[in-house]
Amino acid sequence: LSMALTACGSDDGGSDDSSSGSDSGSSEAAGKIGVILPDTESSVRWESADRPALEAAFKEAGVEYDIQNAEGDAEKMTQIADTMIGNGVTVLAIVNLDSESGAAIQEKAKSQGVATIDYDRLTLGGSAEYYVSFDNTVVGELQGQGLADCLGDKDANIVYLNGSPTDNNATLFAEGAHSVLDEMSNYKVVGEQAVPDWDNEEAATIFQQLYTAADGKVDGVLAANDGLGGAAISILEGAGQDGKVPVTGQDATVEGLQNVLAGTQCMTVYKSATQEAGALADTAIALVNGEDAETTGTTVDSSDDSEVPSILLEPQAITKDNVGDVIDDGGQKAADVCVDKF
Ligand code: BGC
Repeated sequence: LSMALTACGSDDGGSDDSSSGSDSGSSEAAGKIGVILPDTESSVRWESADRPALEAAFKEAGVEYDIQNAEGDAEKMTQIADTMIGNGVTVLAIVNLDSESGAAIQEKAKSQGVATIDYDRLTLGGSAEYYVSFDNTVVGELQGQGLADCLGDKDANIVYLNGSPTDNNATLFAEGAHSVLDEMSNYKVVGEQAVPDWDNEEAATIFQQLYTAADGKVDGVLAANDGLGGAAISILEGAGQDGKVPVTGQDATVEGLQNVLAGTQCMTVYKSATQEAGALADTAIALVNGEDAETTGTTVDSSDDSEVPSILLEPQAITKDNVGDVIDDGGQKAADVCVDKF
């Protein structure tokens, strides 16, 4: 546990901003930015990392904002969007719950002169001016490589627990992971399933089924995020296999990092909320000012081959050796990650 102790020996508290609601800006930037987060269940990141990072970024930019959460309900997201537009937002950013409802929200916004941005998830068939996210194919590649590093050269049976079929990111994560693992002739896929809405409870049920169907002969689990990874670990624990079967994750959540330190999770992927929120604020402010935002390239919308100007950031693989990087970067607080056991 020496590396764990190294990570937990650092006491950088990271940033802390837990206020909510809207705020009036002080600088010259006009306009009002609305952000609709997807839910509170598919990952703790939306409320624990994204909301505070977005608030900090908008405050720093001196722009008015309103951040709401659709709580997993696409109809609610539509209603929130309508209310925000009624209340005068000039730019609307959404993390869609599915592309169809997301595209409808964007179409309506556009018809009322409100520009939209896809935050984190690309809306297939949507009309967003920009897409702000991480390179999600690379996220999947890091997960695949991380699992391969944990498994090594031996023959191994792998189960995939993919993200929601309605989330374009989940498709990219799985593609990225497969592109790495399918190259290795010593690995065999013995089960693969998508988890509706990234639901962690359902993930445990699904993983139990896949595990049983594989006669318990599972050597590695490609889980698309920390919540799904935690579900797989709970089932492995019941079978006395936790810590023996490497499991991947994503989001560098407190639970995920603790599992990494405990050795029950092989790796997670850190995607700085500060960076992503900062990129969203920059992009939104450019739109408000009628300027072009700085992009890193374009993303092809696979539904119609259109190209969406994009800002794609770089994700980072986190193993036991570099958990401290997340804490040093302010992605989590040592006090939260380093409870008793570490
Ligand atoms: C995000 C992940 C998150 C998942 C579930 C994805 O679109 O990129 O960070 O874990 O949704 O909320």
